[in-house]
Amino acid sequence: MPAFGLLHRLSVYYGMQDVIVIGGGLAGLISALELARAGHAVTLVERKTYPFHKVCGEYVSNEVRPYVESLGVDLQALGATDIRRFQVSAPSGRLLESTLDLGGFGISRYVLDYELYQLGLAAGVQFRLGQQVEGVTFSTDKFGVALSDGTTLTSRLVLGTFGKRSKLDKSLNRAFVRQPAPTHRGSANQSPYIGVKYHVRADLPDDVIALHNFSDGYCGMSAIEGGKYCVCYLTTRANLRRYGNIPDMERAILHRNPHLKALFSTAELLYDKPEVITEISFAPKRAVEGHILMAGDSAGLITPLCGNGMAMAIHGAKFASELSNAFLQNQLTRSELENQYQRGWSARFARRLWVGRNVQKLFGRPWLTEAGAWAFGAFKPALRTVMRQTHGEVIGV
Ligand SMILES: Cc1cc2nc3c(=O)[nH]c(=O)nc-3n(C[C@H](O)[C@H](O)[C@H](O)COP(=O)(O)OP(=O)(O)OC[C@H]3O[C@@H](n4cnc5c(N)ncnc54)[C@H](O)[C@@H]3O)c2cc1C
Repeated sequence: MPAFGLLHRLSVYYGMQDVIVIGGGLAGLISALELARAGHAVTLVERKTYPFHKVCGEYVSNEVRPYVESLGVDLQALGATDIRRFQVSAPSGRLLESTLDLGGFGISRYVLDYELYQLGLAAGVQFRLGQQVEGVTFSTDKFGVALSDGTTLTSRLVLGTFGKRSKLDKSLNRAFVRQPAPTHRGSANQSPYIGVKYHVRADLPDDVIALHNFSDGYCGMSAIEGGKYCVCYLTTRANLRRYGNIPDMERAILHRNPHLKALFSTAELLYDKPEVITEISFAPKRAVEGHILMAGDSAGLITPLCGNGMAMAIHGAKFASELSNAFLQNQLTRSELENQYQRGWSARFARRLWVGRNVQKLFGRPWLTEAGAWAFGAFKPALRTVMRQTHGEVIGV
């Protein structure tokens, strides 16, 4: 038993947790798992109940594959696909293809998050499912975390892994929710993005991630487990408002790209209705707020165009749990923890987020995307450079 074991046991006895993790997506599940395996008392609060679907393209960069497998996730047994090629089409349908230097794998969040949840249970993580965190306070060096069932949990540390946008951002009065959400056009007053996802069966290659552009948006497609494909697109709320509903918007806008028209007219849709999320914003955020360490999308959301938000959430969770472990073992003071985390987080991810925001400006605008596609076609190395700039090295286990 580690030297901090007795104190830890006493504090758990008196109801105080070492760590409360708010939100059980990839960042939350992995942080909780790592910290529980390191011997800490961890409670994870998730407002939904596993397994559940999530709006996400479900293509995971190989930069995190060895690490994910080292956690005990058997990707092959779960049916993850191996993705090696990349296709991008302009709104007119003009198609370019390139191999991926690093590549990735395809697996649904329904399966991957559920697997991590099972590993968390086995490691002793306490799950409070179907509960929303409504507020967090910090005083006399401890946190109070208020849940929707009226209970308040206490802990030495809180990790904020509650995703791209949560009511909690408002209750924490975070700066990015006080600003009007910017869009890819750069204007603060235009409407933010929406994300739509389907699982389909279709006659498509299973080693390709395709990114099909349309006016004011793009749609990613790649194979996941069980012979299925994930089809997920991002567009503006203004597009949806203009056409009133998703099927009409898809017919009027997405189908102008012949690849999307072919997909939507031939694929078998496996949900009654698509998963939809609104109010997506790529505004910069802070990695530490109110003494809470943020990881994953809560710390910064990279544009889906870059296809590695999940890798960043996983990588961020590894980093957050390593430093949290050092703090909980009294090797770091709280202010050392917060400073090292903020600096380390920026060093790892700030540049990727910046490149992602700028590359996003190329997409969705018909003339720019056509020009971008032409330029990338002429200079395929440019496409590879952009990929390298928005992805990291394979992370160590
Ligand atoms: C359209 C779209 C397509 C994308 N495609 C890809 C892709 O192909 N590849 C890729 O790598 N990335 C992709 N991403 C990004 C990727 O989905 C995210 O970066 C990733 O899910 C981040 O994980 P996370 O753990 O930070 O957050 P999430 O997975 O969003 O988890 C946050 C969790 O917190 C819970 N929660 C929120 N508030 C509370 C609260 N108050 N109390 C309790 N629980 C709460 C939520 O229910 C949720 O389960 C895409 C994103 C979008 C929008």
